[in-house]
Amino acid sequence: MQSATYQRKDTHVLRLTSGEDLLGQITQYCNEHKIDAAEITAIGAVKQAMLGFYDQDTHEYEKHSVDEPMELLQASGNVSYLDEERFVHLHGTFSDEEGEIVAGHIFENTVVFAGEAVIHELDGPDLVREFDEKTGLSLWDLPAS
Ligand code: ZN
Repeated sequence: MQSATYQRKDTHVLRLTSGEDLLGQITQYCNEHKIDAAEITAIGAVKQAMLGFYDQDTHEYEKHSVDEPMELLQASGNVSYLDEERFVHLHGTFSDEEGEIVAGHIFENTVVFAGEAVIHELDGPDLVREFDEKTGLSLWDLPAS
């Protein structure tokens, strides 16, 4: 395992803009407010979603487009750096009109209908992702513990 210790800084509360991209809005806010490390939660509703499942054998994301209005029951994730840019990593659980659940890694083209996000900013060492051979993913590069 690897780990590091961070302190909580400001908590940012966002009313997301209807018709705009979920990840895009959060990323833009983090860039404008220079939020380098954070924990994120969000709830609301979306017009459509682009969700992913990471295939652990092929090391590729399978993307699933869901083109219908859904409740965003919960999104949670974080902010760190990937290739010298802020990267928002978000997973979400959604429900449709029948209450059926779809969930996954949230990609761009997940469009907000209404949304409330809370960003808990963290203060500490640089939080940076590096490519990991074993998983094929860009994972946090932290001190060994
Ligand atoms: Zn993910």
